[in-house]
Amino acid sequence: MDRSEVLELSEVSKTFMGGGEPVSVLKELTWTVRRGDTIAIVGPSGIGKSTLLHVLGALDRPDRGRLLFGGRNLFDLDDAGLARIRNRHMGFVFQFHHLLPEFTALENVMMPARIAGMGIREARERAKALLDRVGLSHRLGHRVPQLSGGEQQRAALARALVMEPPFLFADEPTGNLDIENSHNVHDLLLEIHAERGCALVVVTHNMDLARMMQRQVTLMHGRIAEVCPSSLHI
Ligand code: ADP
Ligand code: MG
Repeated sequence: MDRSEVLELSEVSKTFMGGGEPVSVLKELTWTVRRGDTIAIVGPSGIGKSTLLHVLGALDRPDRGRLLFGGRNLFDLDDAGLARIRNRHMGFVFQFHHLLPEFTALENVMMPARIAGMGIREARERAKALLDRVGLSHRLGHRVPQLSGGEQQRAALARALVMEPPFLFADEPTGNLDIENSHNVHDLLLEIHAERGCALVVVTHNMDLARMMQRQVTLMHGRIAEVCPSSLHI
């Protein structure tokens, strides 16, 4: 397999120094995610799911350890270098959409492509096609506050996909949506995985979504532990 199709955390540790006791969230954690994988990260609030996803997606740096991608340790890069890798290889969807409110849906989706240096026409075409794909072709010119919660989240998904990243990460992407909109976003995530063969790593409390993934994992003593799907409760 191409080395740029594998992300590998190696002996990663991260401790937060809060007000009280230090909290060791990740402890010499080693884990590999491959293009094509679908993985649910489940478990109680505060266990470290977001921290794990952020370190895996090079959004956050650990105290120690490496993130191997394309034959190098990404944490050796400076912040600008990391941002470049994220822009080209990783898509993120969060619980809150993080779209820029003063821009339209189309402009928001174009933005990662423009940052990557893509010409305005190509960026616009790609963004339009993606907004169409997520069912928002009638909302291109709407500014973010004019979109419903479900529409905002679908626009955020389109933005995450505009650079065609091999790795797609979602942190409680439907934590803020009603059941119907949640199903819609779940279906889209799975369809997009099937169409593109990207990796899909989702932090979720939604056990229906978790069960649709090939693997379910949690954190135990700061390391990855597999979860038996039949033990997932709604
Ligand atoms: P989860 O996503 O599973 O709810 P998080 O990864 O957000 O968990 O947090 C794991 C633990 O680390 C929690 O105890 C949380 O309070 C702590 N934590 C997370 N981020 C910070 C931070 N920036 N500063 C201090 N503590 C943090
Ligand atoms: Mg979290």
